[in-house]
Amino acid sequence: MKNNLEQRIYTYSTYLEKKFGRKVFRVGLSTGIKCPNRIQNRGCIFCNPETFTGEYQSQNLSIEEQLKDAIPRIKKSCGDVGLLAYFQDETSTAGDIGFLRSKFSQALSHNEILGLIVSTRPDFVNDEIVEMLQSFKVPVTIEIGMQSVHDKSLDFLNRNHNFLQTQKAIEICGKAGLDVGVHLIIGIPDESYNDMLQTIKYVSSNSFIKQVKLHNLVVYKNTKLAEMKDIHLLSIDEYIDILSGLIPFLRKDIVISRLFTSNIRKSQIAVAIYEGSKPEWLNKLRLKLNEKKYNQGCKIKIIILNS
Ligand code: SF4
Repeated sequence: MKNNLEQRIYTYSTYLEKKFGRKVFRVGLSTGIKCPNRIQNRGCIFCNPETFTGEYQSQNLSIEEQLKDAIPRIKKSCGDVGLLAYFQDETSTAGDIGFLRSKFSQALSHNEILGLIVSTRPDFVNDEIVEMLQSFKVPVTIEIGMQSVHDKSLDFLNRNHNFLQTQKAIEICGKAGLDVGVHLIIGIPDESYNDMLQTIKYVSSNSFIKQVKLHNLVVYKNTKLAEMKDIHLLSIDEYIDILSGLIPFLRKDIVISRLFTSNIRKSQIAVAIYEGSKPEWLNKLRLKLNEKKYNQGCKIKIIILNS
């Protein structure tokens, strides 16, 4: 099953094996910094910090302590794999430059860490941050929360940045030689299929973008989204159907590092519209792509904007 899907799309595991020549896993780490959008603006309407996969922020552990806790667990279940330090939760560049350099350096000083992944918002990307990340001389991926090219959707999500800021952030990182990944939400209420397609077409047209994470919109408890009435949320079948239509418009060399919102805990969900499990969803997507005979990039006719 896995192999079949990998023949249709460029998966993250294929990319990692190609880049590092071995199996590589991510170690989720936390700088401990809280997201300014959450603190100042009540956060994105879908955001519930209790659902972040990293468990370290609330525990106030040093990077060394986090690695000491996580690495043996990963090695026990995955064997002798290479590791990437993944600063995933909150906004991992929203801090004093010296503080951030020290956090990232501590992770990279561990002899099993091969590189860095840093997740952030467009409005917390600047030349100083990018120069610091570049200076480590290891593979660095910066993941930028883009979500959509449509400002009306960014406003609806209470992102408090616009698409122009996203474009600028991607350009700063791309020009500096960092690998850029973007996070997208497929199925933002009131976005039409064509709206989503415009977002995918933009991603394909931007040669700085090397990775994409695709998410279904999950309604978690204690979020603004959970309080909203009369909004249309995609069922998992609708999501998979739309996804199978969008994948052909995604450039072949862009790594799809996520296809579904991951690690959904049922106890945290306010609106239970996602029946089944991730392996079942992957299988449905595989069948849908097979049925349509669609591969990633098979419908692409675009002009690359900034090659
Ligand atoms: S930018 Fe990320 S961490 Fe911050 S409020 Fe939005 S989803 Fe939450």
